[in-house]
Amino acid sequence: MTIDIAAKAKALVDTVLAEPANDHDIDLVQRQLGRYPRGMVAVGARCVCGRPLAVITRPVLPGGIPFPTTCYLTGPEAVKAASHVEAAGVMQQYNDMLASDEELKAAYEQAHNLYLAFRHELAGRLGDSEEHIEGTSAGGMPVRVKCLHALLAQSLVMGPGANPIGDLVLERVKDEFEPTVCRCTLDD
Ligand SMILES: [Zn+2]
Repeated sequence: MTIDIAAKAKALVDTVLAEPANDHDIDLVQRQLGRYPRGMVAVGARCVCGRPLAVITRPVLPGGIPFPTTCYLTGPEAVKAASHVEAAGVMQQYNDMLASDEELKAAYEQAHNLYLAFRHELAGRLGDSEEHIEGTSAGGMPVRVKCLHALLAQSLVMGPGANPIGDLVLERVKDEFEPTVCRCTLDD
């Protein structure tokens, strides 16, 4: 299982680094976020139209700032959809499910391990230190659900099955957001 995760993480990083962020991507993400995306390495997931949905950020930002949220949600429609689910109080449901469903709990721990393996591989390729973020993933993993944006970002970057809660969020919001249906409003 450990070998599977390492191999999967390596393949994911290969894919991400095959197409590093270009100026156009960085400009689009800057306008999505309303700030310059420091440490952005690549676009990790795109809308069917090509606009970024989630970006990959390096483990250490310029200036030496440790940054654990390697998969970061940027697509405004995706961000809004995740916020709507949070506002509806669904995080408590997910936490209750994690507490009562052993299979889900195990899959969520695997999502955490894959997140860490992905970042470890990325850190190795970029020469970044993980000293200050070792063992820290995102979104509340491995035992709590605290930020659906982070979990949805992992699902979009790593695909179905990588994060069970992110997958639930994606399923839940599909009338509002899904990567295969362009509802983007940002100009090129
Ligand atoms: Zn689009």
